[in-house]
Amino acid sequence: MSEDPLTSSTFAERARVQLAKPFLREAVPRATDIAVRDLRERFAGHDYDGLRELGREIRARTMADLEDALATLTDALVANGIHVHHAADAAAAREHIRRICRESDATRVVKVKSMATEEIALNPALVADGLEVTETDLGEYVVQLDGDRPSHIIAPIIHKTRAEVRETLSRVAGRELPDDASELTDFARERLRDAFMDADVGISGANFGVAETGTIVLVTNEGNGRMCTSMPRIHIALMGIERVIPTLEDLSVMLPLITGAGTGQLITSYVSMLSGPRGEGEPDGPEAMHVVLLDNGRRALLGTEYQEVLHCIRCGACQNVCPVYRQVGGHAYGWVYGGPIGAVLTPLFLGTEAGGELPQASSLCGACDDICPVKIPLHDLLLQLRRTRVDDGAAPWRERLAAELWAWAWSSPRRYRVVTRIGGGVVRVMAAAGLMSSLGPLGRWARGRTIPTPARRPFHSRGERDV
Ligand code: SF4
Repeated sequence: MSEDPLTSSTFAERARVQLAKPFLREAVPRATDIAVRDLRERFAGHDYDGLRELGREIRARTMADLEDALATLTDALVANGIHVHHAADAAAAREHIRRICRESDATRVVKVKSMATEEIALNPALVADGLEVTETDLGEYVVQLDGDRPSHIIAPIIHKTRAEVRETLSRVAGRELPDDASELTDFARERLRDAFMDADVGISGANFGVAETGTIVLVTNEGNGRMCTSMPRIHIALMGIERVIPTLEDLSVMLPLITGAGTGQLITSYVSMLSGPRGEGEPDGPEAMHVVLLDNGRRALLGTEYQEVLHCIRCGACQNVCPVYRQVGGHAYGWVYGGPIGAVLTPLFLGTEAGGELPQASSLCGACDDICPVKIPLHDLLLQLRRTRVDDGAAPWRERLAAELWAWAWSSPRRYRVVTRIGGGVVRVMAAAGLMSSLGPLGRWARGRTIPTPARRPFHSRGERDV
């Protein structure tokens, strides 16, 4: 098994590796800018903020009574002839899926892009069971062929050049493929068509599960979602328990929010609503359908100060606007989720030991709050995680000492004045001598930007005299 990047390296180390890739620093901002621009253009003239507020209200109402919503969903799924399995953690979810594959005598599996399956590290477990697993989203297919990992929730190969994709697909083709996006796509489509035809099991995630109708909703832009869920004998959907929404009416709000925030579309090319296996006399659809409801740390967040992170619909918009993510890309975060949502989810799901430093990887500019379609206060959650890390004693001693000294110095007006006068003087002298880059830990920050020199007379002291 490959080394876990989260525990074997620090964020700074991983970020340095990513920052050395000039293409990444050009491609990620370019691609994410397009998504943000499209979102603004598509919703210009509409009350998008009002829609976000409705979305926030639906998510908050559902999470306030999550068990009730899940019970309704389970009853409706079962009434539709769907088998429901509950998984407390990643291992239990993997085991459910492996067992279903075993009991169906499956040898080949096709998959729709799903962050939940990444979260439970499903593919290696299935491969270890001797199953042939094929990712069928184009980006995920390339990631799988390369033994790589997705770096964005919506756009898994945002970090790859077309030349790299061509190289990978040419290797599979056994010949040099032309440097043309549509020809490369045609090649992948041809290969994947065979995989759909031969598959026994199709595995998907679930963008939403509608409780009142027992419907699993998939939002995709490639036809692979429909092929995976209708062609194989068995369909398994892995759904995080928080993805439940109460009604179809709620879905009419959530759909434009996820497609708009995710890809800047009013609606994606395919919206599949799956409400059971193939019925009698129906020409297509799976013989059996299973839904695995994944907890994996979600229930533990209910009733805590972090509950609002469960409102997330994994649209990736916060990644698109995050100044840190846009420079370092998703792999620097070390686990499945990158950007602001990853900096919140990773320590909550894996514990502060593994992901505790990620909330520091934020400028706290609040751009993520402003774009989140369900108004999750990511900025507050990041701050709260920083506080928890200090309270738990997990922050490095230097960081704790600095915070304690800072709090001591700035909690009295007299000490504040003394410290800012001394600090301002030191910075002025260092700036005049061109030594800002030697200013301890601040030096690294000063190397990339010009730090304004503090005024000789602090602003508040001028105010005092004028009053
Ligand atoms: S936190 Fe908000 S913006 Fe980020 S992925 Fe989740 S729903 Fe989208």
